[in-house]
Amino acid sequence: MDEDRYDRQRRIWGTEGEDRLKKATILIAGAGGIGSEIIKNLALLGIGSLLIVDMDLIELSNLNRQLLFRDNDIGCYKAEIAAKRVRELNPEVKVEFFNEKLQNLPNQVFKDANIFVSALDNIPARIFLNQKAVLYKKPLIDGGSEGFYGHVQVVLPQITPCLLCHDLWLKPEEKFKCSYAVNPRTPLDCVLEGRDKFFLKFNRLPSQENEEDLRTVYNFARAHAEKHNIIGVTYEIVKDSIKGTVAALITTNAIIGAVMTNELLKILMRNISINGQKLVPLTYFQFNGITELGWSIPLDRNESCPVCGIKQLKLEVHPTIPLIQFIQRLESELTFELQAPLLLKEGIIIYRDKAILEEKLLPKGEIERLKKNELRPLQDFFDDGDNIYLRDEILGIELWIIIKFQNQDKDGQE
Ligand SMILES: [Zn+2]
Repeated sequence: MDEDRYDRQRRIWGTEGEDRLKKATILIAGAGGIGSEIIKNLALLGIGSLLIVDMDLIELSNLNRQLLFRDNDIGCYKAEIAAKRVRELNPEVKVEFFNEKLQNLPNQVFKDANIFVSALDNIPARIFLNQKAVLYKKPLIDGGSEGFYGHVQVVLPQITPCLLCHDLWLKPEEKFKCSYAVNPRTPLDCVLEGRDKFFLKFNRLPSQENEEDLRTVYNFARAHAEKHNIIGVTYEIVKDSIKGTVAALITTNAIIGAVMTNELLKILMRNISINGQKLVPLTYFQFNGITELGWSIPLDRNESCPVCGIKQLKLEVHPTIPLIQFIQRLESELTFELQAPLLLKEGIIIYRDKAILEEKLLPKGEIERLKKNELRPLQDFFDDGDNIYLRDEILGIELWIIIKFQNQDKDGQE
């Protein structure tokens, strides 16, 4: 009779591997479809400790795939119930939960974890976690799915590409997002973008039953349509198209969750020889459940990545362009869409996004000062070669950018 709960896996990586599992603390951002799978896997494997973060409540429509939840749990916090189930699955695992937005967690939580797992359903939170991973040099395993499609990316900071080195992670299940945000063609594209803006602002999806939600999405969609000269956005299109959620399938989630857990094990067990082989984490993996094909894609780091780049992003601009034009240039240079950029110079705010200006109820004088700044030439604020600090107040990320002034004489000759 076996006395050891972990006997079968100990046969793979020995006592050394078991010790590593026991000592590991894993941060899991998202306890939904993929998160549930990973939490279950790590609990049964006997991981040392789990930190589970999710601000969402359990809904009936989660129960076709999120195995940690029961009918009686509807209306409870996902993170809290997931933690309860971990204790049932394996009382040896220490578990903490946070019924909170990832961006509100104290930095200590990120420092305490050895590896970050991103099983998130939204882009801003993933961009945020990616930056924390690079900042604290913690491996990040990111995964996503929609219907039969899924992907996994492993970020080993300063070794492999981070999420913002490229935009492949926005595909295939979210590839449509790029096109409608940047290059919308139909009224529906504008509505989808309106829905995303709503999500970014309120951190939840709009409800089909709530008229105020639909109005807000409609206004966002109209603004996006105007910007891109698209006509035909109506309230009815908004109402019809706000179903809010993407397709999700338990089989894809189980596969993606298993691949992510497998990569986590490879990171934990590195340097342990297993059947004479070295464990090498994958960089990027895509899965297509219709063709039953999964494949690995080798990716290179982007030297000028705004988050993990070896070379800092350098922007060449004319010193006399207005500050607002500089912001637009900045937005076009990045691999992701800025939501609410904030520029500081020696501790003083010189630029703040319109959305934040309207929302924060700043004193009138302050708003006027910032609006005037937008039209002032760049050279009023910066010198050639300055290191500029940029923060995004919605995404919660920080970047450093070098400004390079173009030679005026040379420009004149062109
Ligand atoms: Zn990067």
